[in-house]
Amino acid sequence: MSDNQILIHNAAYIITMDYERRIIKNGSILIENDRIAALGKMLDFSQLNVDKVINAQDMVITPGFVNGHCHISYAHATRGIFPDDLGNDYLVNVFRLQDSMSPKEELLTSLLAITELLSYGTTTIMDPGSTKHVDLCMDAYEESGIRLITGIQVTDRENPYRMAVYSHDDAIRTTESFITEYNGSLEGRVYAWAMPFSPEYVGGTLLRELKLLSDQLNVGSTLHVNNAGKFNSNVSTEPPVVALERHGFCGANVALAHCVGLSDQEIASLSSTGTAVITCPTNVVKNGGGYGKNFPLSELLDASVRVGLGTDAGNNSNLLETNRSMYLAAVLIKDATGDAAQIPAEKALELATIDGAKALGLDSEIGSLEVGKKADIVMYDTLRPEWQSLFNPVNSLVYNADGRSVKTVMVDGRVVIEDYVPKFVDTEKLIRQVQDIGADMMNRNKMSFPQKWPIV
Ligand SMILES: [Zn+2]
Repeated sequence: MSDNQILIHNAAYIITMDYERRIIKNGSILIENDRIAALGKMLDFSQLNVDKVINAQDMVITPGFVNGHCHISYAHATRGIFPDDLGNDYLVNVFRLQDSMSPKEELLTSLLAITELLSYGTTTIMDPGSTKHVDLCMDAYEESGIRLITGIQVTDRENPYRMAVYSHDDAIRTTESFITEYNGSLEGRVYAWAMPFSPEYVGGTLLRELKLLSDQLNVGSTLHVNNAGKFNSNVSTEPPVVALERHGFCGANVALAHCVGLSDQEIASLSSTGTAVITCPTNVVKNGGGYGKNFPLSELLDASVRVGLGTDAGNNSNLLETNRSMYLAAVLIKDATGDAAQIPAEKALELATIDGAKALGLDSEIGSLEVGKKADIVMYDTLRPEWQSLFNPVNSLVYNADGRSVKTVMVDGRVVIEDYVPKFVDTEKLIRQVQDIGADMMNRNKMSFPQKWPIV
């Protein structure tokens, strides 16, 4: 089979995120099939007979962003319905709405979330176990070309969220068969992990067994920990990460989401066990969680804990753009500490790319633009007011640009967004379908939230 070659030519800057953190001015990238075959400074590719040339003049190119925690399957259908004063009660409503979705509704809603994520430069996501009909939603993953970690959410304790309560054996069996069926599918773009929901609703014995199972199957596991910033002292008298270490649910293949309010003891535990953390600043700030004072980002980095970014769901944080989490991580710690040197732009961009890939154990394949790595590539159009003037592309990307300028996106060497247009879907038709799905879901659940201002 002859190689399918794409040449990205004449880029203003290629921010490689490679080991030396080289930024190549006037650069080119050659892609063969799903991988980067060459990149450099205006390499002479004139002898090549490539299948496609992308003129990247005035573009800044980065690796695809990595979002380590975002629920894609339900939120877009009812996004923005919860009033600010609902507080944490929104969660019961989320689960009630989600419970009433048909498989087809879940597929279309997932596809819209993926369309947003890819359109704004996120090429790898972790959907933390909340998709109920992965068998059908595989169509959305296949059509869109997204790179995705998925799983099946399990609990073994009664919960107020209508989550299925499994027996210990069923939880293990279900997780094992899910991983066996899906891990490595869609040419390796789908990764399947163990996904217990949270320490409040999953007992220590099951956590231990699921971690052992993920070790045996050579995959990862993830868990929601402390998204509210306070651990539930009715359930445990220990800080959650300390309890997780005692249960054996820590290690190099574990990524704990949220982890607000970590103590020094927990940071030490994360560091010594090599456990990763996915932080979702968009979620924390929307819920009044005090990100800058309650999430010890600098302390985690100082302790060499792997940290990646997430956004949580489109109807709690409401923002799915990894770019927004990157910006918030960069500015909120500065604000809280009064020290503008904290989390510099370079570190914020690392969190969104190579650090995020490391947190998910995928850095040998993605997270940087290097020969041999997967061609997951984002091209930002800088001929836009928010990018100007352009002298320091890292500062401009982190502090003044956002997903609006993402012009072309490639995953696994396949162009999925071209000149701002998703190539895998009729976006307008999909938007109208998901709007109707949301209206139907609220009707059938007799759910409405009065708006503060009259709609006339
Ligand atoms: Zn979550």
